[in-house]
Amino acid sequence: MTDLRVRIAPSPTGTVHLGLCRTALFNWAYARGRGGAFILRVEDTDRTRSTAESEEKILEGLRWLGIDWDEGPGVGGPHEPYRQSERSDAHALVAAEVLASGHAYRCFCTPERLDELRAAQEAKKETPRYDQHCRDLDPGESDRRAAAGEAHVLRFRVPEGETLVRDLVRGDVRFDHGEIDDWIMVRRTGAPTYNFVVVCDDIDMRISHVFRGEEHLVNTPKQVLLYGALGREAPAFGHLPLMLGTDRKKLSKRTGDTALGDYIAKGYPREAIVNFLCLQGWALDGETEVFDTETFVKSFDITDVQKAGAVFDPKKFLWLSGDTIRRMPIGELLTAVTPYLEAAGMVNPSGIAAQRPWFEQLMEGEQERIELFSELPGRVRPFFEADDAVTYEEAAEKNARKHEARAEHLSAFLEWLEERSEAGEFETSELSAGMKAWVKERGLKFPALFQPLRCALTGMPGGRDLGDCITLLGLERCRTRIQAAVSRLI
Ligand code: GLU
Repeated sequence: MTDLRVRIAPSPTGTVHLGLCRTALFNWAYARGRGGAFILRVEDTDRTRSTAESEEKILEGLRWLGIDWDEGPGVGGPHEPYRQSERSDAHALVAAEVLASGHAYRCFCTPERLDELRAAQEAKKETPRYDQHCRDLDPGESDRRAAAGEAHVLRFRVPEGETLVRDLVRGDVRFDHGEIDDWIMVRRTGAPTYNFVVVCDDIDMRISHVFRGEEHLVNTPKQVLLYGALGREAPAFGHLPLMLGTDRKKLSKRTGDTALGDYIAKGYPREAIVNFLCLQGWALDGETEVFDTETFVKSFDITDVQKAGAVFDPKKFLWLSGDTIRRMPIGELLTAVTPYLEAAGMVNPSGIAAQRPWFEQLMEGEQERIELFSELPGRVRPFFEADDAVTYEEAAEKNARKHEARAEHLSAFLEWLEERSEAGEFETSELSAGMKAWVKERGLKFPALFQPLRCALTGMPGGRDLGDCITLLGLERCRTRIQAAVSRLI
């Protein structure tokens, strides 16, 4: 291991956002590609919005994506605890240090005074900011008032000048301190703020590189100033471009799903989700869009990340999903779709284990046709229905009924099928060719047999090759279905 240490610091306040997944992936790949460490720290400073459930979902989501962490919840590590709310003692020590060194001061302004100040500034069309009322309070008086229990916040004393952030993605970004408020480190309730604790924890955890979403760029000068006040070198920063919807606005619920869980539920394969996330602000060579995680880890560098917003293209995502499905080994595909078949009440894993070749054959026919796993239960439904009660879709039944002699054709075809079975000719290709010959010999058009037969066997107006359906169902099930159709389609 090198001294390279990166981290993600998710706030467990909701669903697992794709932006978080991408940030995690980029940090993880950076560490994995360079022998560094990847740390997961839960930033649950917002006690009212943080929930254990959300934290669990985040950990589960990252694991699902194949992202593992060297230190953090569940695995421990030398810098425990990895949950920010459990690190309050360490935070309090740092707050006292910054106050004692004069880089921070107590502000006793009441919320009412601050409200009035803001209202007055807004009325004058000025940007609301703290007027530094308490900045030059005599330290003795400040100590006395605090000792007497007067409510206060702790503010960082922003010096004059500017901060230069050498961002590994965005290049040099300058921040004029005139634009930065004396920001709050610790609230009246004693609760620390994000900008304060993130620095405390990143120092304690020896973080060398901070890669996070661009929305945090505005926070970076505040954090850099705090590192300076503590006599510490700031880590290297890289701010990842925003993920934009097709309307070029920040990706949000408005334009599509943003939660990892939504995409899992829809049945995007894991490999497709990871591949697609890699493309959100990074490219392999400008041409190759399909690659595996190993290639990403080997090739990823933070300096290759683009500055411009990454447009999240749902059509491309869907295409990538279908493409990934088509490239999956059949056994893997079967494992991946099992939860969807189970959720639809069609199978259980032991049922699959007992009939694995049959299930693989079932998948083979669908692999070319689906873009999402979730399409599968609807498509294979007929194979899991009772043979005498297949659901006939309206269009399928209408097609079947177009043919006057449907019952005769079905009965005659069943006889032929029985003979084929006796002769041991029940392979899909033999059946498909034989069926066509059967139709021609009788001087019929294909739909005269195929439409009633499709309705009888699947109840659907279209779908996979009929020969394939017959082999999947087997003679007995076909017999029951055809006999049922003869009476049902009268
Ligand atoms: N808790 C912050 C977030 O979820 C972390 C920001 C950071 O990485 O510094 O956005």
